Parts: sequence; structure tokens; C-alpha cells
Amino acid sequence: MRILLQFPEGLKQKALEYAKSLEKKGDVVFVSASPTFGACDLAIDEARNIKADKLIHFGHSEFHKVDFNVEYVPYYIDAPLEILEESLKELSGFGTISIVTTVQHIHQLDKVKGFYEKNGKKVIIGKPFGFAKANGQILGCDVGSASSVDKLVDAHVYFGGGLFHPLGALLNTTKPFVAIEPFENKVERIDGLRETYRKRSRGKIMRAIEARRFGILVSTKNGQHNMNLAAILKKKLEGNGLDAAILVANTFDFMSLNNMLEFDAFVNTACPRVSIDDIERTRKPLLSANELMEVLKIKQELATSKTTK
Ligand code: SF4
Repeated sequence: MRILLQFPEGLKQKALEYAKSLEKKGDVVFVSASPTFGACDLAIDEARNIKADKLIHFGHSEFHKVDFNVEYVPYYIDAPLEILEESLKELSGFGTISIVTTVQHIHQLDKVKGFYEKNGKKVIIGKPFGFAKANGQILGCDVGSASSVDKLVDAHVYFGGGLFHPLGALLNTTKPFVAIEPFENKVERIDGLRETYRKRSRGKIMRAIEARRFGILVSTKNGQHNMNLAAILKKKLEGNGLDAAILVANTFDFMSLNNMLEFDAFVNTACPRVSIDDIERTRKPLLSANELMEVLKIKQELATSKTTK
């Protein structure tokens, strides 16, 4: 069988080892060298180009259905659990908590839950919206496991590496949020970041108020492609007397976007985290669709107030 292997950045170091193991079984194996950050970004076009029969995607669970033979190989990591003891101090006073984690630690969720229950907490595990598949699992773009139970809990707990995942959950919930980083032996209340990110969003919106020419980003990645939304936004902008063009790329290169000097602002329809995490990489404001709506509302209010003066 002709097989294309696709590894996320953190697992690319395993490519040769895995390719050799399949070759020993008689498969013809290729490795995708393109960057990838999620199962929203399957290398199906590359697989078709090299006439592969199958794509093996490592490190993520299925994101959505596609019309190609894809095998998902999850990559589980056993994180040390001793740090949980430490987190009890931060969680004192919170009787009911939710726990969320990434696919890498989802197999440890029952143990983490059991620990807190033994220590007198009521634990509620939420359901994802659909891109993530397991209860308690979150992705950068699917934080349903936290937000669906926000009203029912006193605090949220994230167990896993880094701030990328808990940040999405934090911005879509309202309760105290404790991030447990087992690899750095760190327990941290991160609620303060809500205000930081709210101010950043407000700042972008205010910078875009004077914008007249908008570039709308559409990704060709299979799980991020949203041409319908882009077409709606373009129509909306033009209906408001503004100029807009749809900009298409697989992975957006911020240097190229910065070279597009005609545009006063960009609107993201690809991975929703681009307009949260990458805003300092463009010279012009990089808005989400909701932020664009806010910009248009303020523009209209300003126009109305001018005509009534
Ligand atoms: S957060 Fe972005 S990169 Fe990650 S799975 Fe969602 S769309 Fe893909």
C-alpha cells in the first residue's frame, strides 16, 4: 500500500522510525513535511498528488468526516499526577469543579477525576461541541467540555501542557480557572488573562474603525475552509460601502499579508485561534467575524451620530 504519514510539529521527530517500521511490512511510505497543527489540516491533497491509498495522521483524533482513507493514530502521554496534591490549595473553597484536558492525556482523566472526588470535590465532566470527540477533551477551537458546564461549576481545572488549550476554554467561560502544568510542576490561576484578552480585542476593534479595505482570510485546509462565511462577510462589507477581497492560502504567511499594503484590516475565517494568538504578526488589525460585526456596528453608530448633528 502507498501511505503518506503526517505528524504534528511535536511528533515530526518520529517520522523516520515510523516510516521504516511500515516499510518493513512492505508498504511504500512517504512523509508529509508541511506544517500541521491539528486534524483540521489533513494532507489529503498531498496524498492524492502522490497517489497514496491512505493517509496516517498522528497525534490527533478525528476532527470531521472526509472523503479519503485516513487512519488516526493518537499519541498518549502519561503526565505525572503528583502535582494534583498541590492544586488542592488553589481549589480550596470550590466544591464543584470541571476538568478538561487534551487528547494526549484523556486516558488519565478518570484518575484525575478520582483524585479530586477522594478529596471531597464534586466533579462534572462536560461534553465537547463536536470537533473534539471525548468528554472532557478540548481543542483550541472546541472548548465545549468547559463552556457547556460553566453554569454548573464553581471553578474549572485544566490538566496538561502549555497555555494554548486552556486559553480557549478560559475565554469562553466565566468561572475561576486553574491551569495545572504537570511537566513544569506548576499550578496557576489564569483568570486574569480574560481581561487582558478582552482589552486586546477591544484595541483591535478600535484600530479597525477607520478601515475601508478589508482582506478576508480563507484557508484551504479541509477542516478550516469556510468560503460561505467569507462570501457573507464580503457582501456585508460591500453593503456598508466598503471594499473587500477574499484572500486564499493553505497556511497564511504573515509576511505576505503584511506586503498587501492596500488592506486596512484583515478578517479571519480560518482557525479561530489565528485572530486571537497571531494578532501581533500582522501590521493591520486581524479581526474575527464577530469583531468585524462590532466594527461595522460602531461605524454605523458614528455615521448616524454625524448625520443627526
Ligand atoms: S484550534 Fe485551529 S489548528 Fe487546532 S484543531 Fe482547531 S482549527 Fe485546527
